[in-house]
Amino acid sequence: MSALENSRVTGVLLDVSGVLKDGETAIPGSVEAIRKLREAGLTIRFLTNETQMTRRKLAASLIDLGFCLQERDIIPPCPALVTLLKRENMRPHLLVHPDILPEFDGIDKSNPNCVVVSDAADNFTYENLNEAFRVLINMEKPRLFSLGRGKYYSDNGGLTLDVGAFTAALEYAADIKAEVIGKPQPEFFMSVLRDMRVEPQEAVMIGDDIVGDVGGAQNCGLTGVLVRTGKYRSSDEKHPTVHPDAIVDDLAQGVDLILKSRK
Ligand SMILES: [Mg+2]
Repeated sequence: MSALENSRVTGVLLDVSGVLKDGETAIPGSVEAIRKLREAGLTIRFLTNETQMTRRKLAASLIDLGFCLQERDIIPPCPALVTLLKRENMRPHLLVHPDILPEFDGIDKSNPNCVVVSDAADNFTYENLNEAFRVLINMEKPRLFSLGRGKYYSDNGGLTLDVGAFTAALEYAADIKAEVIGKPQPEFFMSVLRDMRVEPQEAVMIGDDIVGDVGGAQNCGLTGVLVRTGKYRSSDEKHPTVHPDAIVDDLAQGVDLILKSRK
């Protein structure tokens, strides 16, 4: 807890799944916690690797749960990837969740020169994975973009395979290294901080992923706080390389710590 004491926190980055909500349910105290952060005048962004729905749909679902936020406060990896694809004239073969296909409207997908993989959930069939592999292996210069590389997440109380596991399979088979867009990629954190006009040492990241959220944030100079909700497992507290600046029971406790540190 000590890292937060005497700190000058002006910005807070929050993971969504496992911190605000678990599956379709708000985690107790989290709606009120966001309200407290807003009342304290802190700048907030929701930094998520969510790729099962568009940003608009995610915002609507969180507002339905009672959270005080706007669509523009939510930062998923997809818009950053779309910018990159356009900039580098990439024509993707998509292995993604059908609900995020609208994010790729206006992108040329003919004659693919890269593969994009996101949390495709039920779309991760053998057939679809094998097709993505075949597209990659037949490219002269294969490029694989992965939207995050989480191992697993908590969905309605059960741990569920995340995109990282499937990305690893494609990397292994095609003998390439994926380019990750999303947490824990440093540029993902830094671009959000620039947009917030907040320095890394004035920012706190709260998440349930010890590597993607806490480690990713600490690598960029932010304070990294782990919550004991969502995918949290007690073994995370003995992680060999990532040591959170604070570990809290839930978002509500994390927010109270931040607000106390400012007094
Ligand atoms: Mg999470």
